Amino acid sequence: MKFAGSVPGVQSDPRKPTPSVAASLRALGTSIRNIDGIGPKRAAQLESFGIHTVLDLLRHLPFRYEDRRRIEKLSSAASGMEATFIGRLIGLQKRYIPRRRSQMLLATLHDDSGSIDLVWYRAPGYLADNLANGRMISAHGKVEPGMPGRLRMVHPNFDFIESGQETELGRIVPIYIHPAGLPLSLMRRWIAQVFSQYGVYLIDSLPRSITGRHGLMTLAAAIAELHVPPHTIDVDAFNSFASRAHRTVVFDELFYLQLGLGERKRALSQSASIRFGAANNKLAQRMRELLRFELTGAQRRALTEIEADMARAQPMQRLLQGDVGSGKTIVAWFASLRAIAHGYQAIWMAPTEILAEQHYRNLKDFADALRIPSALLTAATPPREKKALLQAIARSDVALVIGTHAVIQQEVRAPRMGLGVIDEQHRFGVMQRRSLQHLIEEPENPSASNPQPHMLLMSATPIPRSLAMVLYGDMELSFIDEMPPGRIPVQTRVFAERERKQVYSIVLDQLRQGRQAFVVLPLVEPSEQLAQVRDATQMQQKMQETMFKEFGVGLVHGRLKAAERDRIMRSFRDGALSLLVATTVIEVGIDIPNATVMVVEHAERFGLSQLHQLRGRVGRGTAQSFCLLVNRGTASTVAAERLRVMEKEHDGFKIAEADLRLRGPGELLGARQSGMADLHFANLARDARLLTEARREALEWLEKDPHLKRKPSAGMRQILRHRWGAALELGSVG
Ligand code: ADP
Ligand code: MG
Repeated sequence: MKFAGSVPGVQSDPRKPTPSVAASLRALGTSIRNIDGIGPKRAAQLESFGIHTVLDLLRHLPFRYEDRRRIEKLSSAASGMEATFIGRLIGLQKRYIPRRRSQMLLATLHDDSGSIDLVWYRAPGYLADNLANGRMISAHGKVEPGMPGRLRMVHPNFDFIESGQETELGRIVPIYIHPAGLPLSLMRRWIAQVFSQYGVYLIDSLPRSITGRHGLMTLAAAIAELHVPPHTIDVDAFNSFASRAHRTVVFDELFYLQLGLGERKRALSQSASIRFGAANNKLAQRMRELLRFELTGAQRRALTEIEADMARAQPMQRLLQGDVGSGKTIVAWFASLRAIAHGYQAIWMAPTEILAEQHYRNLKDFADALRIPSALLTAATPPREKKALLQAIARSDVALVIGTHAVIQQEVRAPRMGLGVIDEQHRFGVMQRRSLQHLIEEPENPSASNPQPHMLLMSATPIPRSLAMVLYGDMELSFIDEMPPGRIPVQTRVFAERERKQVYSIVLDQLRQGRQAFVVLPLVEPSEQLAQVRDATQMQQKMQETMFKEFGVGLVHGRLKAAERDRIMRSFRDGALSLLVATTVIEVGIDIPNATVMVVEHAERFGLSQLHQLRGRVGRGTAQSFCLLVNRGTASTVAAERLRVMEKEHDGFKIAEADLRLRGPGELLGARQSGMADLHFANLARDARLLTEARREALEWLEKDPHLKRKPSAGMRQILRHRWGAALELGSVG
């Protein structure tokens, strides 16, 4: 371990041997409760903040750096300048503002040259508790005119200067997010202390060749710089997370994630599969004749990628992404034909009955015309029929099976399964996806030597490539980024609550033309559900009894049983209802060409990607469709600006990029349930380039040393297991 006394804050003894990887991981896992000076009460505060171990504390990086190399004299304060002043507080006044239920704080900061007023309109409790006359603080902020003849700073960033800590003056000071009630200065002191005790255990986790190529530091040196910035750093680079130290920790994190994903992918591709070559695929030829349209360029490209995978001896793991309506189904159908032409089965799984039915209805005519025996298998299949069907599937008499979760039930066997297709794959868990792949196995004899079916996963949730590389880094990706010709973009408009009349009149106008409309309310916490069901019921009744008397108005909400929900959805699909009020996410992928209006209530509570998904429910036919976003939030301009993106942008990938930038990966559909988005340092919107580089290096490294067994990688294997073993379900051996 090369990490020397030159790193500030670390006293590492060069004569001491480098700790082993195992010893390091153990040491970094030490509970903060064992740290001198952190008592049980403080420890509990940290733990409730997600900081449990030494490592947690060390990777709790500052979110900002305050440049206190220059402390201004108060006599030099002038309106418009942004500066740091140090002084003592006087004239502290606390005023409780009942209307806001918060404290307002007023004070004056003075040094030996002058003074300035400080104002906090909404002071958090700990601030009110800790500010006191006579305390020395540093205050950083923008100077503006205050009371007549006075200058002031509103909501300055401040920090207590404890006596004996005047050393912080003239430095660049790291600012941490910290639990309420726990002073920042304590936090800073602990981190520095823990770093000086445990810093030696931050081992070099990246190979020299890689750090060299990318101009990175060692992990320890980077962490040292981030917590104890040397006097000479470029503060702007640090504040924009672009410093060499930042790049180092981000790269290190992404490299290991990609190493884990690469390893997982390799493990999946170990097993053998059936090779479905191009020869002899008469079915595809005849299918092209049956088709009333040409495949788009993007569809053809995706299909070529899929077919190349299916011709290989390892099972395909491919995710097909494409906006709602981009035509994924037909691509998956051609892939199915390839397996079927070779005498194998294709098994499709969709998240809901109504979607499975829709696929079945769409594909059955084709299947019949091509004399492919097909079947639908859902929970609604009557038991008698089901028994016969399962036998037919097991005998391979049925070549195309379309179903719901019912296809992965215990008793289903498909020994000739050649392709599994999962629609709306993010609605399924990892285990469910795996179960589908395992339908070929005899339960008594799950043998790894059985050829594994190829798997094609589909998703209508476009996500930026950077995020896809993280969430689906163990799969191949195909994108359909082009719409079939002739689609009319859905006209989208944001309305304020007071413009509701206009919204309704557009809806009414469309209904009178024989069209249908959705009104969607946001998904809420279970605790709010009852209230929401009440609101939605009222809304439905009011619409039914007043403006929309002449039409059938239906309601689906989160408290309905699945069967009841499906029944209502069906009567909407079949036209018995003209207007559907829904508190639950309307089935992604459901195809109702006659629906031309999507009203989204409380649009401000949705992510852009979600809104885009909802918008995709309409505009499926040939008529002009409308998406009406009702902003019921406060007139916050940020929220309104965000919604405006929807008015101009119709490309799901671009919208997802904007969403990622604005809200982070956790909020994008499908990302949350995947432990893989659990990154400490990297920000996928910001670090897309580093991600690409880290991925390339990781895959190259695995190429050269697939089992991470050679000398420099031995420690890497342990680190990988430690960091990502659980989240990526990496085996403990190998
Ligand atoms: P999604 O990608 O959302 O699953 P679908 O596969 O349901 O989209 O396709 C939406 C509609 O577009 C279907 O009615 C389908 O028949 C039609 N479609 C698909 N590909 C084309 C194409 N190349 N040209 C014209 N229409 C197409
Ligand atoms: Mg679909």
